[in-house]
Order: sequence, then structure tokens, then C-alpha cells
Amino acid sequence: MATLLIDGRWTASQSGQTIDVINPCNGEPFTKIDRGNAADIDLAVAAAQRALDGAWGKMTAAERGRILMRFGDLIIKNAEELAQIEARDTGKPITVARNDVTAVARYFEFYGGAADKVHGQTIPYLNGYNVSVVRVPHGITAHIIPWNYPAQMFGRTLAPALAMGNACVLKPSEDACLSALKLGELAIEAGFPPGALNIVTGYGHEAGAALTAHPGINFATFTGSPEVGVMVQEATAKNHVPCVLELGGKSPQVVFNDADLEKAVPVIVKAIVQNAGQTCSAGSRLLVQQDIYEKFTRMVAEAFNKVRVGAPEMDCDCGPIVNAKQHKRVSSFIEEAKASGVPVLAEGSLAAGLSDGGYYVKPVLFGSVPRDHRLACQEVFGPVLSAMSFTDEEDAVRLANATEYGLAAGVWTENGGRQSRMAKRLQSGQVFINCYGAGGGVELPFGGVKKSGHGREKGFLALEEMSTTKTIVQFHD
Ligand code: NAD
Repeated sequence: MATLLIDGRWTASQSGQTIDVINPCNGEPFTKIDRGNAADIDLAVAAAQRALDGAWGKMTAAERGRILMRFGDLIIKNAEELAQIEARDTGKPITVARNDVTAVARYFEFYGGAADKVHGQTIPYLNGYNVSVVRVPHGITAHIIPWNYPAQMFGRTLAPALAMGNACVLKPSEDACLSALKLGELAIEAGFPPGALNIVTGYGHEAGAALTAHPGINFATFTGSPEVGVMVQEATAKNHVPCVLELGGKSPQVVFNDADLEKAVPVIVKAIVQNAGQTCSAGSRLLVQQDIYEKFTRMVAEAFNKVRVGAPEMDCDCGPIVNAKQHKRVSSFIEEAKASGVPVLAEGSLAAGLSDGGYYVKPVLFGSVPRDHRLACQEVFGPVLSAMSFTDEEDAVRLANATEYGLAAGVWTENGGRQSRMAKRLQSGQVFINCYGAGGGVELPFGGVKKSGHGREKGFLALEEMSTTKTIVQFHD
């Protein structure tokens, strides 16, 4: 099947080349996608421009909203098929994939409802003038997403852009894009006019680079690694195109001696194990107050030892790592830390009967990680939790902020004053107090500071990011 959606039709890449899609549970190819390149991006951008000049550009906000909501309904009707596709492509447990699909539907429901509720302003000015500030779409928006939550990312990036009336070109990840293709099919059924939503599969350095450097785009949003984020920012800057970057994280879970430890344990374990740690907002650093360090890390270790890794259909906590390259990277972090003498406090297990060649790793809890160790500073993007101790609140803030990243942070304490102080002082796009939402619901703005990126997605702030303003000054006698 052709995998490029351009102008409302499925088409093969101009080059005729394809990319094998690998099953992370056994390392074997099971299907192919088209290897789109610059020529295909040209066609997609031209189709998007025609959509803006035609039916899509002329639609009212309410009409757009209705299509988004219909799309959300179709996602729910096709939820099981989508979840199966997502689980097979990424290796994540089917139960998790089902939740992910519900979240995609929620994006289109939320932004469908919001489409006609974005208001402008009027500004009192000189006598004889009417001044209004209206929100308008950017025009053509470019969307580049990664492989860890391919379906959810589709909803997160596209729903607000489409709600605001942009015409979109999506470049999903070459490592997991099958759910995006099924969602593309449903988008056509939902009634998006041709060219309103285009999808070009392919490699990042080819299709992705061509899209972000294209002079025809007016805005770009990228989710992925900080290294590629810099390339995207450079490419868009050359055309004076604004961009939103959602990058990595090294998020702390800060546990004080007055915390409800029983409640904290399962949340902290889930926050690093879920999706095999391949979550940008994974809570990967466990910072524990010195006087409860031994006791609390023992409690976490007990829970960590019970974590099971398996194939999607098994009743497990997480699946394999997505591809061979990431598997090697995560394994090297673990091996190097062990070799350098960092103590292993607990290790999860692999379920029986897994296929050979699968990209599985056992989740690891490391203890007493030196503050300057690679494990404490760099993003692993795998199920690896690094425990460290701190003395007091001041030290906790220093340690939590001692990272280039600033995406999410968890604070565990019953002291209300300390909760407020920590929320204020942590350098992070999100702070969770006595909970950890790994980004939370669609309603909540999400994004980072420092090397975690800039700009916000989700919530009403995404509607602002995905649009710009126009000030209209009218003189009357
Ligand atoms: P990646 O940066 O290699 O790839 C992400 C996407 O960018 C893919 O679609 C890829 O094809 C594309 N790409 C690659 N090179 C490109 C280029 N030169 N120009 C344009 N596009 C290009 O990242 P990854 O390996 O897919 O994901 C892992 C990283 O992403 C981790 O560091 C993780 O923290 C981060 N991430 C962040 C978030 C977030 O919301 N902040 C979410 C998921 C992943």
C-alpha cells in the first residue's frame, strides 16, 4: 500500500524507494513504507496551499470543529484496530496502546470543541478608530513526530493546528508510523478536504529535513531529540519560520522525609517503566532525602524487582525498546554504569517465551549515583532509574535543577509551604505534586525549558502556538 497521503489520495514516493518496518519484538521486517523525499514534500506543500486557497481555507471555525469531532468519533469506532497497529509497530503492551488511542480521540474531541471558541480582542484607541486583534492560522504547518507515542503525537500536534485552520504536512517517524497511516485513512472519512492534512513517510534526514527547510511552510513543530531539534531550529530560522520544539528530559522525582512513601512508590516506578522508559517526561532521577534514603530506595527496589517486560499481548509492565540503535544505546548506559561500579539496587525481569532478536532490556534501579555520573546527567530514554540523596530543601532544589533539561518534575511532600516553594523554584515546564502525570491530560499545556525545548502544546496554549494574530485598524469619520 502507498503510504504518502497527499491531496487526499494515497500515493507512492516519487523515487519508488521503500523502508522496511521492523517488529521490535523479534527484529524482523514485517511491512514497508514509502521513502518520501524532497520531491514528495514539494507535492505535499503544494497540496496544502491549494487546500488553504480552496475549501479548507473558506470553512468556518464551526465547520472545521465538526470535522475534528467526527474524526474523534471515528477513532473511537476503530480503536481496537488502531491499538493493535500501535502495539505491533512499537512493541508496547496492548493495554497501553488502547489508552494511547483513547487519548488521540480526546485530542480531536477537545480541539474540535475549541475551534469556534477562539476569540479576538478589541482595543480602545484614538477617536475615529476601531481596532481589533484577530487570531489567524499560520498557513502551512510542518509537523515532525517521534516513534515513542506515534498515535498520541499525531493527535497532539495536528488537532490544534487543524482546529485553527492551518493546512498540515506531517512527517511521522520512520520507526513507527503505521498508526498515523490508519489515522490518515480515517481523516479522509471524517471529511477533511484534500490537502488539509498530508502525510509524508520517510527518513528524517531526507523528508524531515526537506519539510523543515521548505520555503513554503509558515510554522513547524518538532518532537524528538535535542540534536535534531537544533537542526530544525536552524532550518526554520533560515526562512524566518517560527517553531515549537518538544525535546528530551532528565526529570527528577524529589522525595522528602515527610512524604507518603507508600503512595509514592508505584507512581515513581510507573513513571520510569512505562513505555520502557521511552517517554520524554519519564521520571528518571530519584532524589531522596538522606534520612529516608535507605528505607525508601528499599521500598522502590521491592516494587522494581516485580516489573516484567514482555511482548504486547502479554500481561506485562512494558515492552521492548523500539529499534536496534536505541537498544544498543540503552544497553550501553546500563553496562557502563555497572562496569563503573554504580550499585544495582533492583532489576526487573523478562517474561518467559520472548522471541529471539527482540529489543528487550531489563529495567534497572541504580543507587548512590554520583551527581556528575553520565547516568545522572544524560537522558537514557530507557527503563533506568538513578537514585541519589539530598540533605535539605536547598540541596534538593540544587540537585533537581542540576540538569541541562527542564521538562517535568515530581515533588513528594505533605508540607504545603514546601510544595509551593518547590513548585516555584524547580526549572521545569511541568511540576507534579504528590502525583506524576507524564504530561497529564489534553487540557494541560505541555512543554519544556532549557534543553527540553520551547513553546507549548496541548491545552488552549496550543491554539495560540498554532496561530498568529492580525491587528486590524479601521478609521471612520
Ligand atoms: P529523533 O530526533 O531522531 O527523531 C524524531 C523525528 O525527527 C523523526 O520523525 C525523525 O525522522 C525526524 N528527523 C530526524 N532527523 C531530522 C532532520 N534532520 N530534520 C527533520 N526531521 C528529522 O528522535 P527519536 O529518536 O525519534 O526520539 C527520541 C528522542 O526524542 C529522545 O531524546 C526524547 O526525549 C525525545 N522526545 C521528546 C518528546 C517531547 O514531547 N518532548 C516526545 C518524544 C520523544
